[in-house]
Amino acid sequence: MQVANYENNIISLYDELDKYPRRDLAITEIRKKGRKYAYKCPFCDEYLILRAGHMYEPHFAHKQGKSCTVARSYEQYEQQGKKESAQHSVIRDVIYDDLRTQEKYKPDLKVEHGYKAKAEGSWKVVPDIVVKKGSAEFGISILTNVYQKGDDSLVKIIRKRNQYFTERGLNNIWFIEDQKQSLDLSHRVFFLWESETLLSAKTAWDLKWDELLNKLTVNDTYSISEVFNYNEKEILNNDVRSLYYVHSSSEGISFSVHRVILDELESPYRAFAVTTGYKMQLTDALVIQDYLQLSNDDYENRQMSIFKSDFAEGINRLMQNAEGQLENIKLKDNTKQAEQNGKQKDTPKDLPVIYWDDGTVTYLVDRLKSKYISEEDAALLAQYLRHNRELVIFKGWDLRDIQKLAVEAMGKISDSTIRTHLGEIVDL
Ligand SMILES: [Zn+2]
Repeated sequence: MQVANYENNIISLYDELDKYPRRDLAITEIRKKGRKYAYKCPFCDEYLILRAGHMYEPHFAHKQGKSCTVARSYEQYEQQGKKESAQHSVIRDVIYDDLRTQEKYKPDLKVEHGYKAKAEGSWKVVPDIVVKKGSAEFGISILTNVYQKGDDSLVKIIRKRNQYFTERGLNNIWFIEDQKQSLDLSHRVFFLWESETLLSAKTAWDLKWDELLNKLTVNDTYSISEVFNYNEKEILNNDVRSLYYVHSSSEGISFSVHRVILDELESPYRAFAVTTGYKMQLTDALVIQDYLQLSNDDYENRQMSIFKSDFAEGINRLMQNAEGQLENIKLKDNTKQAEQNGKQKDTPKDLPVIYWDDGTVTYLVDRLKSKYISEEDAALLAQYLRHNRELVIFKGWDLRDIQKLAVEAMGKISDSTIRTHLGEIVDL
């Protein structure tokens, strides 16, 4: 294995080798120390020696030749993680440390590294972290380098592990590192990789969302897809699921959650975006009640009220359209009047798609700053802010600053439609 206990610290062989100017020199020195009993197994305390040759990578081995159970499991875990990025262990350790802290004041909670928890069972593959809460057991797995691995190979890995863990009684939680999410707000489409469809979870908040959707569609007059103008492949059922992403930066790690209804399960994989998603801090994500919390109650409640008002707006639009059609039928004989009616009616234009990071929002805020913003741009900015309050903050802007800009712009702009949109921003 690549780790050892040296002078009461866990060191990695990889780092040790790097300390010397030349590889052969490093190997001679480390081998010498090993023969003098400087390295011990972190798991069983047996002395370790260095093995290095042409046939295999340098590694520590038990002096007696036989690896202990946990070390064997750890070696297997090292192999399993070979294709992960350097961030993988950083993210894992942050999550592990946070959960271990909770363990101290929650007596029915047990948190262990996967290789340690499952060493006795000689599992062929293990989750990064295993959490036991009462009689329930969770396996947390972190996936990094998702682009390098490719979707097909990821799908295979996830299928295999999901099945392997589930057969052995684990509930699986997956975190994907920094996946670039592809969301089309105006059509409420979330484009997914096949692998992402396998990683979705069903949590307490998903059930609350199911309940809300059931309530809203109880009369069955209009379906969710009709109301939100979503182009459904299958008839959407009210089965909300969540996807979790982990982001790491110099400031630490944070999580984000997206709630979707899976729709098209072949390429292009699509889902109905129930929410626009939001980022949350470690403390929101990792609190363990009966399950990992993985959500922020305030954000969820806000997203729910936005959803409800969007739903009401959609119903209104549909009902107005229906009334309009009725009127047209009534006016069928009076063609002159019908023509006039057609002329007067302005068809509302669909707002264009906003992608998260294409610079559109920066552009719109700049327009606002200059106090020369078009009607279309003002509408777009109001729409974006309404749906992405949390994201705006994480992008380094403060909503209040943007609102201040809107107030300033209103001092210069007299066009009533633009002022209405700016007013919407101020009222958020
Ligand atoms: Zn050992």
